[in-house]
Amino acid sequence: MKELTRKAYAKINLGLDVVCRLENGYHEVKMIMQTVGIYDELTFSKREEGITISTDTGELPTDGDNLIYKAARILLDSCGVQGGVHVHLQKRIPIAAGMAGGSSDAAATLRGVNELYGLGCTMEELQKLGVKIGADVPYCIVGGTALAEGIGEKLTILPSAPQCIVLVAKPAISVSTKYVYEHLDVAGLTLHPDIDGMRAAIEENDLQGVLERMENILETVTVQAHPVIAEIKERMLELGACKSLMSGSGPTVFGIFDNQETARAAYEKIREEGQAPEVFLTTLIQDIDL
Ligand code: ATP
Repeated sequence: MKELTRKAYAKINLGLDVVCRLENGYHEVKMIMQTVGIYDELTFSKREEGITISTDTGELPTDGDNLIYKAARILLDSCGVQGGVHVHLQKRIPIAAGMAGGSSDAAATLRGVNELYGLGCTMEELQKLGVKIGADVPYCIVGGTALAEGIGEKLTILPSAPQCIVLVAKPAISVSTKYVYEHLDVAGLTLHPDIDGMRAAIEENDLQGVLERMENILETVTVQAHPVIAEIKERMLELGACKSLMSGSGPTVFGIFDNQETARAAYEKIREEGQAPEVFLTTLIQDIDL
């Protein structure tokens, strides 16, 4: 095969808890990850040598700093491949948004290059390489609904979360994940999201149970620094969302709707009002291979 195109999906966190700060500076987390239908497209083509990247956005590096480059490098090296690859990225997932866009591109690259060169690595082998690039990469390799523990790399695949409509809005601010974790007072937090309860609600296909437990402990930091997040959350509720939450370290906000028309009307309003220039109306995705 000379060329192939694959999707790299974004995720939201239906629940996100931080358990403790580890000695190495990382944090132990407990999160419910969920793929949504917002995706980048990556086209992989074989080259004699080297790794090159082109993209339709001017906002990302195309050199060794791009996570696509890191993923291609690590896989080609670990399999002793002589050839190279060119990757063209069509960027749709908001950048530095809490939607794992970079991790998902890295995951799609590991899978895409594995296929392009017929390397025969298993998903588990790709996940082991992926965690060296980022803690969310192993999850992005499989997608769907999952409980992520450890630094995010210990995965328990869950049954599909109850179907619903998701309105995603990213305000025009960028949030550094590093800043958020550095300012999180883990020891001082007494109330934690009920991630075990959410897992049980997902296993029972109980949307109400999921909605009641939708919480993100990182809001304690990001919302304080950027009140616009709270405003968008509130606005989504006014417009009929059953619940709204910040995803990951932010600043993206998502609202869960159980009615298509209400969700569509809310989408139009949020777009018109301009607090969030990037707005999407989407659903939960279970199978990232379709
Ligand atoms: P997470 O939810 O995992 O914290 P995020 O959505 O907050 O991720 P990303 O969009 O993955 O953030 O990007 C974080 C940083 O990684 C950006 O500042 C960007 O410069 C860098 N980066 C490198 N490669 C990529 C890529 N292919 N796509 C997006 N960002 C990339």
